[in-house]
Amino acid sequence: MGVDVQALKRLVEESGNIVFFGGAGTSTESGIPDFRSAGGLFSPENGAGGSYAPEEILSHDFFMSRPKEFYQFYFSKMIYRDARPGAAHLALAELERRGKLKAVITQNIDGLHQMAGSKEVLELHGSVHRNYCMHCGRFYDLDGMLELARRNPVPRCESCGGIVRPDVVLYQENLNSEVLWKSQALIAGADVLIVAGTSLRVYPAAGLVEFYRGDKMILINTAPTPYDSRADYVIPDSVGKVMHSLVFS
Ligand code: ZN
Repeated sequence: MGVDVQALKRLVEESGNIVFFGGAGTSTESGIPDFRSAGGLFSPENGAGGSYAPEEILSHDFFMSRPKEFYQFYFSKMIYRDARPGAAHLALAELERRGKLKAVITQNIDGLHQMAGSKEVLELHGSVHRNYCMHCGRFYDLDGMLELARRNPVPRCESCGGIVRPDVVLYQENLNSEVLWKSQALIAGADVLIVAGTSLRVYPAAGLVEFYRGDKMILINTAPTPYDSRADYVIPDSVGKVMHSLVFS
């Protein structure tokens, strides 16, 4: 489908109510792979025996029953301490500064939108930058969490010895309802909706797209999604490249 980028630039320039809904493809250019493509099955180096799919390891049941193996996967595959914002993050922060973008809604947990300067960021799946003790609630930032992990393969609270967990939504767990409702309202009220870097196959996050009522949905993804026919413009290209040209060229 040949999409005229100039036409999309006009949509962006004329709107003061753009909402961006993004997934893993927004951060791949920052060196953060989609964990689903992080290497298929994962075999813990010690202890558990056997191999697990990432979706199994990142489930509530697995976390509760095998925290050591969970954290081995988590710290080796989900944490990218040195990742920096890419072209997509920077373009979105600039759009917000210009008063055009209402909010970024993301399925990512890497905190790169905030690092790029975005203020209104709704994190559907939480963030690796927030961690808390499951017993006393004490908060740890990412560096604090990594410090605990250096002392113990399962991070333990300095105050009470409880297990510290990331504020990340695991499989079998519910999304934060306030974040979800706010995201639904933003999408329902959006003039332009940009959906990018997401396969739109993970529910309930993917269902958010259905709340959009307008006729300016721009879908940017390298591979086809189940919502391509719903979108008004489909751009099969990298998120960073397209967002950069929409905002800065
Ligand atoms: Zn504690």
